[in-house]
Amino acid sequence: MTRSMTRSRGSFAHLLHFAAAGAFVLAATCDRARPAPARAQDGRPPQARPQQPSPPARRGVRATVTLVTLGRFPRELTDAVEAGLREELQVDVVRIDDAPLPRFAYYPPRRRYRAERLLNYLRSRVPGANARVLGMTDVDISTTKGTIYDWGVFGLGDLGGKACVISIFRLRRRARDADHLRFRVTTTAIHEVGHTLGLEHCTEPACVMRDAEGSIRTVDTSSGHLGPECRAEVDREAPAVWSRANR
Ligand SMILES: [Zn+2]
Ligand SMILES: [Zn+2]
Repeated sequence: MTRSMTRSRGSFAHLLHFAAAGAFVLAATCDRARPAPARAQDGRPPQARPQQPSPPARRGVRATVTLVTLGRFPRELTDAVEAGLREELQVDVVRIDDAPLPRFAYYPPRRRYRAERLLNYLRSRVPGANARVLGMTDVDISTTKGTIYDWGVFGLGDLGGKACVISIFRLRRRARDADHLRFRVTTTAIHEVGHTLGLEHCTEPACVMRDAEGSIRTVDTSSGHLGPECRAEVDREAPAVWSRANR
């Protein structure tokens, strides 16, 4: 059963979108028992062999996130978002062709785009029960916050669902430099994808999942990482799974 309701808490307002939980298949891996050191036929220890390079460490992933540029988005920031998501959330990331901003999401009175309509658009573009999709754009986006119908936001994401979106329109305001903007954008992307992995807002100091409460300050004072509580929560909600697909 799918239940949807809207919750708006500051600029990181997100939709509560309880999709049917995707079934994760846990794949256990184990080391083979190490055999006793071999001895040559004459009883002497065998000659040391050249060291073989170690195979890359196997790494589980929680989900695959598809990045979609809606309209325009700087390539350099897309690269930073991809690296940040892989590192912080242990997800695979793929990119698909840029998509135009859908006209049905445009809100003429404020000349900006409704974020929840962008989520509808994004969900339709990426099939797959466990797939996630992150739309990225440079236009202003908005959603309904309490009694305010059209409230500008940094991003919006389904909670435990498929789609999320971020905008740099507000994030680049008064950014000190390129590094600062890159931090804000990456932190916001991790926050919104974190929602799709089942993470709600928290009160952990400096955790990336704190509610922005209508201010950029929470983004700027974030560590850029999940706090211990959210780290444990995402391990429960979306455990990293090793499979042939990410071998
Ligand atoms: Zn949020
Ligand atoms: Zn947290």
